[in-house]
Amino acid sequence: MDSPSAFQAALQAAFQSALGHLESLRDRPVAATVSLSELRAKLAKPLNDHGLAPEEVVRDLVDDTQGGLLGSAGGRFFAWAIGGSLPAALAADWLTAAWDQNAALFACAPSAAVVEEVTGAWLKDLLAIPASASFAFVSGCQMAHTTCLAAARHALLQERGWDVERNGLCGAPPIRVLASNRHGSIERTIRLLGIGEGNVCDLAVDDREQTTPAVLEAALASAPGAATIVVLQAGDLNSGSFDNYHALIPIARRHRAWVHVDGAFGLWAGASPRYRHLVEGVELADSWATDGHKWLNVPYDSGYAFVARPEAHRAAMSHRAPYLVHDQDARDQIDWNPEWSRRARGFATYAAIRQLGRIGVADLIDRCCEHARTLVEGIGHLDGAEVLWRSQINQGLVRFRDPRLGAGEEDHDRFTDAAIARVLEGGEAFFAGTNWHGRRAMRVSVLNWQTSPADVARAIAAF
Ligand SMILES: *Cc1c(COP(=O)(O)O)cnc(C)c1O
Repeated sequence: MDSPSAFQAALQAAFQSALGHLESLRDRPVAATVSLSELRAKLAKPLNDHGLAPEEVVRDLVDDTQGGLLGSAGGRFFAWAIGGSLPAALAADWLTAAWDQNAALFACAPSAAVVEEVTGAWLKDLLAIPASASFAFVSGCQMAHTTCLAAARHALLQERGWDVERNGLCGAPPIRVLASNRHGSIERTIRLLGIGEGNVCDLAVDDREQTTPAVLEAALASAPGAATIVVLQAGDLNSGSFDNYHALIPIARRHRAWVHVDGAFGLWAGASPRYRHLVEGVELADSWATDGHKWLNVPYDSGYAFVARPEAHRAAMSHRAPYLVHDQDARDQIDWNPEWSRRARGFATYAAIRQLGRIGVADLIDRCCEHARTLVEGIGHLDGAEVLWRSQINQGLVRFRDPRLGAGEEDHDRFTDAAIARVLEGGEAFFAGTNWHGRRAMRVSVLNWQTSPADVARAIAAF
């Protein structure tokens, strides 16, 4: 039998390497420095017949991944929508692995069940979601959409006399989805739920990137009585814009549609007194999806689903089997989550919220928005650059113009991508491009608790 100290050498090696990695982020290139073939050459070892010492495995892993780890845990990473990890959240995440609880039921992970119960209530409080909403800690916003819209599918079809859990979708009344600008995770959820991407209809947006009441009213009225899901945005992935919930949700309600809000990062505006006005009225929705691993700076594997109608949520997810043990009073995650065996992912969120407190969360939101504004204005006003979208929260868009005489939009597109690539090569900062109204643009997204004014200045200087 191994003694408990069988863990010692491997964990020690991991600890030292993790700390070294985190502390070197300030100085190391933020982009990868090795190629795909170099990574394959190092990592594609022959499958070993005999086992290795745990610490040797860890040391090899550290050595062989060098250069292929982006600096996304640090303060100079502004691509996509990527947060870092707060120290307490990261430590709790390590403990989650060490404790190795199966957080499917209270019976097999009592502390994990209670931590999720408590943290779910904290999240609703922070995000201005009604306290009566049910929730689930899922792997990310993608699965939060899937969980929420499974509840929507249940409720819409039940109202039409159809039991979707029992009968499936063959022969069911059709469901349509109305959505404006949206993240691709909405389409994937619609596919997974069997509703079919072809049933997603675009809602036009105005020049503020919002759906107008007239557009929504017309779309709903075009198929009266049809089972309809309306997807609204809290923080569009490019512009960070918010829909007008007070104007739109009552219209959807009159048409008996289900309103779902994609707030992967933007819902966190509700946690800041300075930005809360942007999500006013969002509490009227039927479901909300957001992430912990973006703006709250919890390590990956952290998304949250909230549903205003707990009975629909539970009906879509709950499962009973003769060998399971259910506690009368406790919250069993299997009633709300799409997974069976699962990581006790509530611990990291619990720790993140306790490390920051209510004021610290608000401060994190405000700081990231401030940095995004400085980056967008700072880069966007450099010679040859232009601001395409001023950041309202933590997102903005800039574009670079090809200085050659007679250069056209396509040249500016190429020049924009080239400018991003040059900065990545230099390793000073990491940005990514996007398509914006048919043109190439560079996204600026600030979501890391560590980003400092010095990081922002370095990133601007890199251009
Ligand atoms: C990131 C993102 C998602 C998907 O979230 P995951 O956590 O990656 O599953 C959905 N919507 C928006 C607006 C996003 O930014």
